[in-house]
Amino acid sequence: MTYRSPVEYNAERMHAAAVYCSDGRVGEHFDDFLQNGLKLPRYDRVALPGGPGCLAGHTEARLEQEGVIDELKFLTDAHGIDRVVLIQHQGCAFYAHRLGVEPDRMAALQRADLVRAAFQIRRVSSAINVEAYFVGSEGDGLVFEQVTID
Ligand SMILES: [Zn+2]
Repeated sequence: MTYRSPVEYNAERMHAAAVYCSDGRVGEHFDDFLQNGLKLPRYDRVALPGGPGCLAGHTEARLEQEGVIDELKFLTDAHGIDRVVLIQHQGCAFYAHRLGVEPDRMAALQRADLVRAAFQIRRVSSAINVEAYFVGSEGDGLVFEQVTID
């Protein structure tokens, strides 16, 4: 089977990456936010369960953290990444199941983890600008809110 994508290929890089949860229910929303909200077409994707939660020093995600740091080092060297966008989403199953976090504590921990994740990324390269967002549901849609991480 072969398939020709109708999407035009543009080889120019954006020098930006996003670290977010791989949850398929929110993938299109993340794409929409990054491409239209932040005007970042063709950003590099670092998607795994929990997203930035894997960069916050949790023992349960030690291996994932090593892997993501390694990927970000690679993207910094090979793709010249100088901007990283972190996204946490409400009700993330990684927090509920892997970390065993109660629903009423989850959002506060996810926000605190954005600060911890930003710290880890700045250790990869001080030239990387990090910004962070928390996604919550509102009506039948999702709203992206910037989180202060400095
Ligand atoms: Zn998730």
